Amino acid sequence: MRVLKFGGTSVGTVRSLSNVKKIVESIEEPCVVVVSALGGLTDRLIAGAEMARDGNAEYRREVETARRRHLEIIEALVSPPRRKDITARIEELLAELTRLYEGIALLGDLTDRTLAQVVSFGERMSSPLVAEIIENATYYHSPDFIRTERWFNKNIADTALTDRLIKETLGDGGFRRAVTGGFISTDRDTGEITNLGRGGSDYTAALIAAALGARVLEIWTDVDGFMTADPRLIPDAFVVRHMTFIESMELCTMGAKVIYPPTIYPVFHKNIPIRILNTFNPEAEGTWITDEHHGHALVVKGISAVRDTTLISVQAQGRDSTDTASRAVNAMAKNGVSVYLVNTHERDAGFAFAVAAPESGTAVKILTDEFGPELSRGEMENISVSYKLATIAVVGEGMKKRREMQESLLRGLAASGIRVLATSDGTSDTTLAVVVPADEADRAIETLHCLLFADKTVGK
Ligand code: ASP
Ligand code: MG
Repeated sequence: MRVLKFGGTSVGTVRSLSNVKKIVESIEEPCVVVVSALGGLTDRLIAGAEMARDGNAEYRREVETARRRHLEIIEALVSPPRRKDITARIEELLAELTRLYEGIALLGDLTDRTLAQVVSFGERMSSPLVAEIIENATYYHSPDFIRTERWFNKNIADTALTDRLIKETLGDGGFRRAVTGGFISTDRDTGEITNLGRGGSDYTAALIAAALGARVLEIWTDVDGFMTADPRLIPDAFVVRHMTFIESMELCTMGAKVIYPPTIYPVFHKNIPIRILNTFNPEAEGTWITDEHHGHALVVKGISAVRDTTLISVQAQGRDSTDTASRAVNAMAKNGVSVYLVNTHERDAGFAFAVAAPESGTAVKILTDEFGPELSRGEMENISVSYKLATIAVVGEGMKKRREMQESLLRGLAASGIRVLATSDGTSDTTLAVVVPADEADRAIETLHCLLFADKTVGK
């Protein structure tokens, strides 16, 4: 059994969907196909909702464009006898979307819950449509079996319930090719439509692959595989043939846009390999992500960046800064704030950590709560926040042991005049992370990529 996920660009046009059709129809074994909304549509749905809220009637044009895109695909790829039903279904969904937009316009208000309804239309339209395009395919409605629960102010998958429901729905193997929408889900308590977050279709596919014990999870996208860096920035970036689950997890949480980070965990847990493949070049080998540590020459698998980070620094005179830093990190984790890098600077007895800029207010609040007594006794002081920074990660298993390589990279950055404001202490097994000013981030990535992969002066 294989699970294949096709992202927005793969289901965006008649041309890309003909490739999807060919790829899936050439598969003999049973498979589950998970699709995103038509490329770019989720953004347009959100834009339409904002127009409606602001009283701008242009939202109707958005509905019209969505209609045209779907109808064009039906015309080109659905066989004539089957066009009527799917057209009626799309029209019905568009009518429902229009009513929702009208409601938003009337109220002049757009809540998160309403927005979740709005964005659900992307996958609610694309998935039954793709099921009509592919021969011998059966449509399944993913909100029936992907369930979420509230966690702080987010919706996260209720993995145990979802696992059971996927098994109940798809586990009997009563299909040759199942097609379902990614991203969308329902709240397990209220039954309202929710989603797994932007880019969440990958995660839907991973939950299905894990529940059904698939042989492989294939993520079909528009590049030849996982690359050493963002190719738009680094023209020399190349496809990495193989990396480990941990490496891909690190790269994706540190900003690589290849896979939605939560995706990796469920398949990693079941040891199901992930393959990154190109819908527009299906012959390409792609990237394998497995638990195998190949003893190959490539130590570092990639460089990624979280662009909008802040650095929060704390002075902790007379205290063990490693201990206080780990308390701080635990407090962040307990409150759902991700920390990208921790630095304990021994000499001035303090520590610093990087978080996404939009979370820095929350992070400072958590810190003041956690260390209230220490702060009031003056044992800790000066919580300061530096803005407009980027965190850059160099990822490869065994990084921790490669002190020399880490030092050469840091020297290389300094030689290029890049100001490194914090480093990750060399404590991570897999990642060397550095915080640099945001406007020096591109140059830092270029320098690192050059040192590691072009000059090959470092890292052999
Ligand atoms: N359509 C959703 C988005 O654009 C989910 C996805 O494509 O993975 O974020
Ligand atoms: Mg994606």
